[in-house]
Amino acid sequence: MAEVRLKGVTKEFGKVVAVKDFNLDVPDGEFVILVGPSGCGKTTTLRSIAGLEEVTAGEIYIGDRMVNDVPPKNRDIAMVFQNYALYPHMDVYRNMSFGLRLRKVPKLEINKIVKRTADLLGIGELLDRKPKELSGGQRQRVALGRAIVRDPHVFLFDEPLSNLDAKLRIAMRAELLDLHQRLKTTTIYVTHDQLEAMTMGDRIVVMNEGIIQQVATPQEIYDHPINRYVAGFIGSPSMNFLPCTIVKDNSNIYASAKGFRLRIPSDQAKMVKDYINKEAVLGVRPEHIDAKSTTVKDYDPGSVFEASVWVVEPVGSEKLVHIKCDQYTLVARLDPHVDLKSGQTAEFVAKMDLAHVFDKETERTVL
Ligand code: ATP
Repeated sequence: MAEVRLKGVTKEFGKVVAVKDFNLDVPDGEFVILVGPSGCGKTTTLRSIAGLEEVTAGEIYIGDRMVNDVPPKNRDIAMVFQNYALYPHMDVYRNMSFGLRLRKVPKLEINKIVKRTADLLGIGELLDRKPKELSGGQRQRVALGRAIVRDPHVFLFDEPLSNLDAKLRIAMRAELLDLHQRLKTTTIYVTHDQLEAMTMGDRIVVMNEGIIQQVATPQEIYDHPINRYVAGFIGSPSMNFLPCTIVKDNSNIYASAKGFRLRIPSDQAKMVKDYINKEAVLGVRPEHIDAKSTTVKDYDPGSVFEASVWVVEPVGSEKLVHIKCDQYTLVARLDPHVDLKSGQTAEFVAKMDLAHVFDKETERTVL
């Protein structure tokens, strides 16, 4: 096992800057997720760690060793890809043992390691099958097994679950976590799926356009996104953003626009004092909006707003209600039993103590 450190890593492909000044310390044994939209540089970062890309600038360390000039096979990493990359003509046993055979590990030893790993992954009965005779989930387990038998210092995963159906993905997510708890191998995992990032990572690295936006635990990122981009990327459905003006009325401070005037709780008001009479953006997560009819008694009357119900999506465990407030459409995640119908006007309550305010120009979080 080993820590991984990236210092000022930049990777350019001609004029395209795929990764820019990337700095990250991954302590030994941590499970870190790189998450961001397509093209933000996740795979390039991972491939650079693996040695499959030569970086344009910066240093990469695995353990104490700077590996910039170390070829991939000597970096002591194992990579698992989205497309599994299994050898089609080899059975599961030979696929899993391939790396060990190359390293001339004695046959008996190989046999022991492959059997133990296959049992760990629940594919002990499949060792003589070819990849085409396996389901997607089983193939992914073989790919994992091939990585595990090498007992690497670091696992690198590139969207390993994206080819699986939704149900299997959830099951495999749990299995991977369980595996990590047992093996405790340093893991860097790339995904574009924010839910996968939230559920699997000790820490999440949110990227956009080759640049790290925020590195923190899933809860920190959800509670305290550093900017509007991160706030919108993490959480599902996404946070609602409402352009507004911050106004002061007597001793109260409000986020105000045509259609709503929502009071910012007094203990948080000082954080937006520089924005009084200036434009800003209010951010409220769908789960922080309630229908007033179902709200518990003690809400702040200053956090109520009126909106018309546009579309109601019952999901069973909750109702996603799309509401229109003046020119803006918001999503509210409501109790499944709330009685709201398309076309009606109703009152809603925003949990303003959990809301955010963003600078309109820089998009940095103000509150
Ligand atoms: P995805 O989720 O779609 O795989 P990603 O976040 O992993 O995206 P990268 O594959 O790292 O993104 O790509 C980052 C940027 O670098 C993109 O603009 C991409 O087009 C560019 N890029 C990646 N590889 C190359 C290459 N070999 N040659 C030129 N440009 C490249």
